[in-house]
Amino acid sequence: MCAKAKKHGVAFRPHFKTHQSHTIGKWFREEGVSAITVSSLRMAQYFAADGWNDITVAFPVNILEIELIRDLSSRISLNLLALDPEPLAWLERELGRPVGIFLKIDAGYGRTGIPSTDMRAVDACLAEITRAKKLRFKGFIAHAGNTYRAGTRGEILAIHETTRQRMSELGNSFKQKYPDLVVSIGDTPGCSLAENFKGIDEMRPGNFVFYDAMQMQLGSCSLEQVAVVMACPVVAKHPERNTCIVYGGAIHFSKDFIMTRGVQNFGPVVRLTDGGWSAPVEGAFVSSLSQEHGVVSLPPEFLGTLKSGSLLGVIPVHSCLTADCMRGYRSLEGIHLDHMSGEDPGR
Ligand code: PLP
Repeated sequence: MCAKAKKHGVAFRPHFKTHQSHTIGKWFREEGVSAITVSSLRMAQYFAADGWNDITVAFPVNILEIELIRDLSSRISLNLLALDPEPLAWLERELGRPVGIFLKIDAGYGRTGIPSTDMRAVDACLAEITRAKKLRFKGFIAHAGNTYRAGTRGEILAIHETTRQRMSELGNSFKQKYPDLVVSIGDTPGCSLAENFKGIDEMRPGNFVFYDAMQMQLGSCSLEQVAVVMACPVVAKHPERNTCIVYGGAIHFSKDFIMTRGVQNFGPVVRLTDGGWSAPVEGAFVSSLSQEHGVVSLPPEFLGTLKSGSLLGVIPVHSCLTADCMRGYRSLEGIHLDHMSGEDPGR
């Protein structure tokens, strides 16, 4: 992704909410990355403690977190997101040190943001920023999360293209007045597949660091690019219904699923090997999740090879949420990799 951003002349500000790890963050630093995205002020504090000093919190500013904002803005170059004048006026009143402001734009996703054609709303925010002494206008930011609803790679590319056009048009109409403004987009499906970033200044994908089963199904990555699996111990076998139970439930995976041949799939099952893991075992997948139980449906001949305590590999459906649930990693070399929320030995 670093190479891709470079190739397209786009600044790379990866989203660190997927891995939430100092160690993994350092790998990005080794690739020359110096600016990052996070999804909370607490995450910004965590990465600031490891020397990151240019951080965008890509979540609409929460005025109840003023103490954290004050703390961070006194130590690092902090960018916040806003989409209406009210929190901007409030920030100006309450802040000690200046912060950068990105206006959150909805370029078609429909989750939040100023619609990309709503110039009155953009102007109202810009007027507030212009009046302010402690707010620096940074640019426009959009997240095309609608790529996750796409059925084909072609649909992902079409959504990316719409987002790109809307964002670059918006950027162009303000670049004369604000020559340094940044047009920022970032979603893993679009950033993985698209080759047109004209009019875009910055990309912020996050999930690509691991990818997952959902990205495989979307076509944004191949199996070889998936960099995490869960190792789940078998705790019970039910040959009469071709299932086994693993210690791996909703508190470990989250409850995201994909549909495979019309059936809910909470994670394809793989065989763990010395050097990694196999391709998904045909017909083996997590078919339901409760709090700690994962119910795995699998062919009888595979079930027959398993014992109590055997480890099954499961490719997470949504690696960002699974990593957040698990709070730590073990590398294939057996080395522990840190996570912001630390390791809970109970997990
Ligand atoms: N930017 C924002 C505002 C996001 O909400 C997200 C993810 O939700 C991202 C960037 C990164 O997108 P992805 O998870 O597809 O890599």
